[in-house]
Amino acid sequence: MNDKLLVLGTMAYDAIESPFGKTGKILGGCATYIGLAASQFKIQCGLVSVIGDDFKTAHTNLLSSKGLDLSGVVTIPGEKTFFWSGKYHNDLNTRTTIDTQLNVLTKFDPKVPEKFKDASIVLLGNLDPNIQAAVLDQMSAPKLVVMDTMNFWIESYREKLDEMIRRVDVLSINDEEARQLTETHSLVEAAQKLQALGPQYIIIKKGEHGALLFHEKRIFCAPALPLEEVFDPTGAGDSFIGGFAGYLSQRGSIAFEDMKTAVIMGSAMASFTVQKFGTECLESLSFEQLKKRILAFKSLSDFEIELI
Ligand code: AMP
Repeated sequence: MNDKLLVLGTMAYDAIESPFGKTGKILGGCATYIGLAASQFKIQCGLVSVIGDDFKTAHTNLLSSKGLDLSGVVTIPGEKTFFWSGKYHNDLNTRTTIDTQLNVLTKFDPKVPEKFKDASIVLLGNLDPNIQAAVLDQMSAPKLVVMDTMNFWIESYREKLDEMIRRVDVLSINDEEARQLTETHSLVEAAQKLQALGPQYIIIKKGEHGALLFHEKRIFCAPALPLEEVFDPTGAGDSFIGGFAGYLSQRGSIAFEDMKTAVIMGSAMASFTVQKFGTECLESLSFEQLKKRILAFKSLSDFEIELI
Protein backbone atom coordinates (compact mmCIF):
# COMPACT_ATOMS: atom_id res chain seq x y z
CA MET A 1 0.00 0.00 0.00
CA ASN A 2 1.32 3.50 -0.74
CA ASP A 3 0.97 6.51 1.51
CA LYS A 4 -1.43 8.64 -0.48
CA LEU A 5 -4.73 9.79 0.94
CA LEU A 6 -7.34 11.53 -1.18
CA VAL A 7 -9.94 13.55 0.71
CA LEU A 8 -13.19 14.94 -0.67
CA GLY A 9 -15.10 17.48 1.37
CA THR A 10 -16.21 21.02 1.96
CA MET A 11 -13.98 23.98 2.65
CA ALA A 12 -16.34 26.36 4.35
CA TYR A 13 -17.12 29.31 6.50
CA ASP A 14 -19.04 28.50 9.66
CA ALA A 15 -20.82 30.57 12.30
CA ILE A 16 -21.08 28.71 15.57
CA GLU A 17 -23.00 29.23 18.77
CA SER A 18 -22.26 27.14 21.84
CA PRO A 19 -23.16 27.72 25.50
CA PHE A 20 -19.68 29.29 25.78
CA GLY A 21 -19.94 31.89 23.08
CA LYS A 22 -20.65 32.78 19.51
CA THR A 23 -18.32 33.20 16.54
CA GLY A 24 -18.52 35.34 13.43
CA LYS A 25 -17.65 33.62 10.13
CA ILE A 26 -14.73 31.32 10.80
CA LEU A 27 -12.86 28.70 8.79
CA GLY A 28 -14.61 25.33 8.69
CA GLY A 29 -15.71 22.55 6.37
CA CYS A 30 -15.15 18.84 6.59
CA ALA A 31 -12.17 18.79 4.19
CA THR A 32 -10.50 21.48 6.29
CA TYR A 33 -10.82 19.53 9.55
CA ILE A 34 -9.95 16.21 7.89
CA GLY A 35 -6.90 17.70 6.19
CA LEU A 36 -5.61 19.38 9.35
CA ALA A 37 -5.96 16.11 11.29
CA ALA A 38 -4.41 13.96 8.53
CA SER A 39 -1.49 16.39 8.20
CA GLN A 40 -0.13 15.04 11.51
CA PHE A 41 1.04 11.93 9.62
CA LYS A 42 3.86 11.36 7.15
CA ILE A 43 1.69 10.92 4.08
CA GLN A 44 0.77 12.70 0.89
CA CYS A 45 -2.71 14.08 1.39
CA GLY A 46 -4.66 15.76 -1.41
CA LEU A 47 -7.91 17.67 -0.96
CA VAL A 48 -10.68 17.79 -3.56
CA SER A 49 -12.99 20.68 -2.79
CA VAL A 50 -14.56 23.88 -4.06
CA ILE A 51 -14.39 27.47 -2.83
CA GLY A 52 -15.71 30.86 -3.88
CA ASP A 53 -13.61 33.91 -4.51
CA ASP A 54 -14.42 35.10 -0.98
CA PHE A 55 -12.21 32.32 0.45
CA LYS A 56 -9.26 33.99 2.14
CA THR A 57 -5.74 33.40 0.83
CA ALA A 58 -4.61 33.19 4.47
CA HIS A 59 -6.78 30.08 4.80
CA THR A 60 -5.46 28.33 1.68
CA ASN A 61 -1.95 29.26 2.82
CA LEU A 62 -2.63 27.72 6.20
CA LEU A 63 -3.64 24.39 4.62
CA SER A 64 -0.71 24.42 2.18
CA SER A 65 1.68 25.18 5.04
CA LYS A 66 0.59 21.89 6.62
CA GLY A 67 1.79 20.04 3.49
CA LEU A 68 -1.72 19.47 2.09
CA ASP A 69 -1.95 19.31 -1.70
CA LEU A 70 -4.63 21.73 -2.90
CA SER A 71 -4.36 21.09 -6.65
CA GLY A 72 -7.83 19.47 -6.50
CA VAL A 73 -9.44 22.58 -4.98
CA VAL A 74 -11.34 24.67 -7.54
CA THR A 75 -12.36 28.30 -7.17
CA ILE A 76 -15.61 29.36 -8.80
CA PRO A 77 -15.39 33.08 -9.64
CA GLY A 78 -18.33 35.24 -8.62
CA GLU A 79 -19.68 32.61 -6.22
CA LYS A 80 -19.59 32.34 -2.46
CA THR A 81 -17.97 29.59 -0.40
CA PHE A 82 -20.21 27.00 1.30
CA PHE A 83 -21.62 28.42 4.55
CA TRP A 84 -23.00 26.57 7.56
CA SER A 85 -24.20 27.79 10.90
CA GLY A 86 -25.21 25.75 13.90
CA LYS A 87 -26.12 26.04 17.54
CA TYR A 88 -25.13 23.55 20.24
CA HIS A 89 -27.47 22.73 23.07
CA ASN A 90 -26.43 22.62 26.71
CA ASP A 91 -25.27 18.99 26.62
CA LEU A 92 -22.96 19.88 23.66
CA ASN A 93 -23.79 16.47 22.18
CA THR A 94 -26.71 17.72 20.12
CA ARG A 95 -26.94 20.66 17.77
CA THR A 96 -29.40 22.39 15.50
CA THR A 97 -28.40 23.55 12.04
CA ILE A 98 -29.50 27.16 11.67
CA ASP A 99 -28.47 27.69 8.07
CA THR A 100 -26.86 25.76 5.21
CA GLN A 101 -25.95 27.81 2.12
CA LEU A 102 -24.66 25.43 -0.54
CA ASN A 103 -23.38 28.30 -2.77
CA VAL A 104 -20.41 26.92 -4.80
CA LEU A 105 -21.44 23.33 -4.03
CA THR A 106 -24.32 23.54 -6.53
CA LYS A 107 -21.77 24.07 -9.34
CA PHE A 108 -19.12 21.66 -8.13
CA ASP A 109 -17.74 19.28 -10.74
CA PRO A 110 -14.98 17.48 -8.78
CA LYS A 111 -11.74 16.58 -10.56
CA VAL A 112 -9.25 14.28 -8.89
CA PRO A 113 -5.68 15.40 -9.77
CA GLU A 114 -3.80 12.79 -11.88
CA LYS A 115 -1.23 12.20 -9.13
CA PHE A 116 -3.92 11.24 -6.60
CA LYS A 117 -5.95 8.88 -8.80
CA ASP A 118 -3.91 5.96 -7.48
CA ALA A 119 -4.29 6.91 -3.78
CA SER A 120 -4.69 3.80 -1.66
CA ILE A 121 -7.18 5.38 0.72
CA VAL A 122 -10.07 7.58 -0.34
CA LEU A 123 -11.99 9.51 2.25
CA LEU A 124 -15.34 10.74 0.99
CA GLY A 125 -16.22 13.45 3.50
CA ASN A 126 -19.72 14.53 4.34
CA LEU A 127 -21.06 15.85 1.03
CA ASP A 128 -23.71 15.35 -1.67
CA PRO A 129 -23.58 11.58 -2.44
CA ASN A 130 -23.64 12.39 -6.18
CA ILE A 131 -20.36 14.26 -5.74
CA GLN A 132 -18.96 11.43 -3.60
CA ALA A 133 -19.81 9.00 -6.46
CA ALA A 134 -18.20 11.26 -9.08
CA VAL A 135 -14.93 11.24 -7.11
CA LEU A 136 -14.94 7.51 -6.46
CA ASP A 137 -15.50 6.88 -10.20
CA GLN A 138 -12.20 8.68 -10.94
CA MET A 139 -10.07 6.55 -8.61
CA SER A 140 -8.07 3.68 -10.13
CA ALA A 141 -8.19 1.00 -7.42
CA PRO A 142 -8.32 2.26 -3.84
CA LYS A 143 -7.65 -0.33 -1.15
CA LEU A 144 -9.95 1.35 1.32
CA VAL A 145 -12.88 3.68 0.76
CA VAL A 146 -14.10 5.55 3.83
CA MET A 147 -17.29 7.57 3.80
CA ASP A 148 -18.87 10.03 6.18
CA THR A 149 -22.29 11.62 5.95
CA MET A 150 -24.77 13.62 8.01
CA ASN A 151 -28.50 14.19 8.49
CA PHE A 152 -28.67 16.88 5.77
CA TRP A 153 -27.82 14.31 3.06
CA ILE A 154 -29.71 11.45 4.73
CA GLU A 155 -32.93 13.48 4.64
CA SER A 156 -32.73 14.81 1.09
CA TYR A 157 -30.61 12.35 -0.94
CA ARG A 158 -31.58 9.00 0.54
CA GLU A 159 -31.63 6.91 -2.64
CA LYS A 160 -28.24 8.06 -3.89
CA LEU A 161 -26.83 7.78 -0.39
CA ASP A 162 -27.91 4.11 -0.14
CA GLU A 163 -26.24 3.50 -3.50
CA MET A 164 -23.00 5.04 -2.21
CA ILE A 165 -23.07 3.11 1.07
CA ARG A 166 -22.96 -0.13 -0.97
CA ARG A 167 -19.70 1.01 -2.60
CA VAL A 168 -17.64 1.79 0.50
CA ASP A 169 -15.58 -0.25 2.97
CA VAL A 170 -15.91 1.98 6.04
CA LEU A 171 -18.99 4.00 6.91
CA SER A 172 -18.56 6.59 9.64
CA ILE A 173 -21.65 8.21 11.15
CA ASN A 174 -22.87 9.42 14.50
CA ASP A 175 -25.29 7.53 16.73
CA GLU A 176 -28.31 9.68 15.87
CA GLU A 177 -27.68 9.25 12.13
CA ALA A 178 -27.16 5.47 12.49
CA ARG A 179 -30.58 5.25 14.16
CA GLN A 180 -32.13 7.53 11.52
CA LEU A 181 -30.68 5.51 8.61
CA THR A 182 -31.72 2.10 9.96
CA GLU A 183 -34.82 3.07 11.94
CA THR A 184 -33.36 1.01 14.77
CA HIS A 185 -32.70 2.04 18.36
CA SER A 186 -29.96 -0.45 19.30
CA LEU A 187 -26.62 0.67 17.87
CA VAL A 188 -25.40 -2.93 17.63
CA GLU A 189 -28.41 -3.83 15.54
CA ALA A 190 -28.06 -0.63 13.51
CA ALA A 191 -24.42 -1.51 12.75
CA GLN A 192 -25.46 -5.01 11.65
CA LYS A 193 -28.08 -3.56 9.32
CA LEU A 194 -25.54 -1.12 7.87
CA GLN A 195 -22.95 -3.88 7.40
CA ALA A 196 -25.55 -5.90 5.52
CA LEU A 197 -25.76 -3.06 2.98
CA GLY A 198 -22.08 -3.44 2.03
CA PRO A 199 -19.47 -1.73 4.25
CA GLN A 200 -17.30 -4.22 6.12
CA TYR A 201 -16.56 -1.68 8.82
CA ILE A 202 -18.99 0.61 10.58
CA ILE A 203 -17.85 3.38 12.89
CA ILE A 204 -20.48 4.92 15.12
CA LYS A 205 -19.39 8.16 16.79
CA LYS A 206 -21.06 8.91 20.10
CA GLY A 207 -19.71 12.38 20.89
CA GLU A 208 -18.55 12.61 24.49
CA HIS A 209 -19.22 8.87 24.88
CA GLY A 210 -16.55 7.76 22.44
CA ALA A 211 -16.80 5.66 19.29
CA LEU A 212 -17.59 2.07 18.30
CA LEU A 213 -15.93 0.13 15.50
CA PHE A 214 -17.82 -2.87 14.11
CA HIS A 215 -16.29 -5.51 11.82
CA GLU A 216 -17.92 -8.89 11.24
CA LYS A 217 -18.75 -10.07 14.76
CA ARG A 218 -16.09 -7.93 16.40
CA ILE A 219 -16.69 -4.69 18.25
CA PHE A 220 -14.04 -2.26 19.49
CA CYS A 221 -15.04 0.48 21.87
CA ALA A 222 -12.91 3.63 22.12
CA PRO A 223 -13.47 6.02 25.01
CA ALA A 224 -13.68 9.77 24.65
CA LEU A 225 -11.29 11.59 26.91
CA PRO A 226 -13.19 13.25 29.78
CA LEU A 227 -12.17 16.88 29.24
CA GLU A 228 -12.52 19.73 31.67
CA GLU A 229 -13.18 22.21 28.91
CA VAL A 230 -15.25 21.62 25.79
CA PHE A 231 -15.98 24.79 23.87
CA ASP A 232 -17.12 23.76 20.43
CA PRO A 233 -17.74 20.24 19.08
CA THR A 234 -17.79 21.43 15.43
CA GLY A 235 -15.50 19.32 13.31
CA ALA A 236 -15.03 16.62 15.93
CA GLY A 237 -16.39 13.93 13.58
CA ASP A 238 -14.25 15.18 10.70
CA SER A 239 -11.09 15.41 12.80
CA PHE A 240 -11.83 11.92 14.03
CA ILE A 241 -12.07 10.43 10.56
CA GLY A 242 -9.10 12.50 9.32
CA GLY A 243 -6.95 11.09 12.12
CA PHE A 244 -8.30 7.60 11.42
CA ALA A 245 -7.54 7.67 7.68
CA GLY A 246 -4.27 9.58 8.09
CA TYR A 247 -2.94 7.00 10.51
CA LEU A 248 -3.98 4.05 8.30
CA SER A 249 -2.34 5.67 5.26
CA GLN A 250 0.92 6.09 7.13
CA ARG A 251 0.70 2.61 8.60
CA GLY A 252 0.08 1.05 5.19
CA SER A 253 -2.21 -1.58 6.67
CA ILE A 254 -5.92 -2.03 7.11
CA ALA A 255 -5.75 -4.97 9.52
CA PHE A 256 -8.35 -4.85 12.31
CA GLU A 257 -5.66 -4.22 14.96
CA ASP A 258 -4.48 -1.17 12.98
CA MET A 259 -8.06 0.00 12.58
CA LYS A 260 -8.38 -0.09 16.37
CA THR A 261 -5.31 2.13 16.79
CA ALA A 262 -6.67 4.37 14.04
CA VAL A 263 -9.91 4.80 16.02
CA ILE A 264 -7.86 5.90 19.04
CA MET A 265 -5.88 8.34 16.85
CA GLY A 266 -9.17 9.74 15.59
CA SER A 267 -10.55 10.07 19.11
CA ALA A 268 -7.41 11.90 20.25
CA MET A 269 -7.64 14.27 17.31
CA ALA A 270 -11.32 14.99 18.04
CA SER A 271 -10.50 15.67 21.69
CA PHE A 272 -8.20 18.51 20.62
CA THR A 273 -10.69 20.01 18.18
CA VAL A 274 -13.44 20.45 20.77
CA GLN A 275 -11.17 22.32 23.19
CA LYS A 276 -11.26 25.55 21.19
CA PHE A 277 -13.60 27.16 18.68
CA GLY A 278 -13.29 26.04 15.05
CA THR A 279 -9.93 24.85 13.77
CA GLU A 280 -7.86 26.82 16.30
CA CYS A 281 -6.59 23.86 18.31
CA LEU A 282 -5.76 21.67 15.29
CA GLU A 283 -3.90 24.52 13.62
CA SER A 284 -1.22 24.58 16.30
CA LEU A 285 -1.24 20.92 17.33
CA SER A 286 2.15 19.22 17.52
CA PHE A 287 2.86 15.51 17.15
CA GLU A 288 4.33 15.55 20.71
CA GLN A 289 1.00 16.74 22.11
CA LEU A 290 -0.78 14.05 20.11
CA LYS A 291 1.52 11.35 21.47
CA LYS A 292 0.91 12.46 25.06
CA ARG A 293 -2.82 12.32 24.51
CA ILE A 294 -2.65 8.84 23.02
CA LEU A 295 -0.97 7.69 26.24
CA ALA A 296 -3.73 9.37 28.24
CA PHE A 297 -6.26 7.36 26.19
CA LYS A 298 -4.36 4.20 26.92
CA SER A 299 -4.32 4.73 30.67
CA LEU A 300 -7.98 5.72 30.67
CA SER A 301 -9.19 2.19 29.99
CA ASP A 302 -6.16 0.13 30.96
CA PHE A 303 -6.76 -2.25 33.84
CA GLU A 304 -5.57 -5.54 35.18
CA ILE A 305 -7.88 -8.19 36.40
CA GLU A 306 -7.45 -11.54 37.99
CA LEU A 307 -10.41 -13.79 37.61
CA ILE A 308 -10.61 -16.53 40.16
P1 AMP B 1 -18.84 17.82 12.15
O1 AMP B 1 -19.00 18.68 13.38
O2 AMP B 1 -17.65 16.91 12.23
O3 AMP B 1 -20.10 17.12 11.78
O4 AMP B 1 -18.52 18.80 10.93
C1 AMP B 1 -18.83 20.16 10.90
C2 AMP B 1 -18.37 20.75 9.59
O5 AMP B 1 -19.18 20.23 8.53
C3 AMP B 1 -18.57 22.25 9.57
O6 AMP B 1 -17.30 22.88 9.50
C4 AMP B 1 -19.41 22.54 8.33
O7 AMP B 1 -18.87 23.52 7.49
C5 AMP B 1 -19.50 21.22 7.60
N1 AMP B 1 -20.87 20.95 7.15
C6 AMP B 1 -22.03 21.24 7.78
N2 AMP B 1 -23.10 20.84 7.06
C7 AMP B 1 -22.61 20.28 5.93
C8 AMP B 1 -23.19 19.66 4.79
N3 AMP B 1 -24.52 19.56 4.64
N4 AMP B 1 -22.37 19.17 3.84
C9 AMP B 1 -21.03 19.26 3.98
N5 AMP B 1 -20.40 19.82 5.01
C10 AMP B 1 -21.17 20.33 5.99
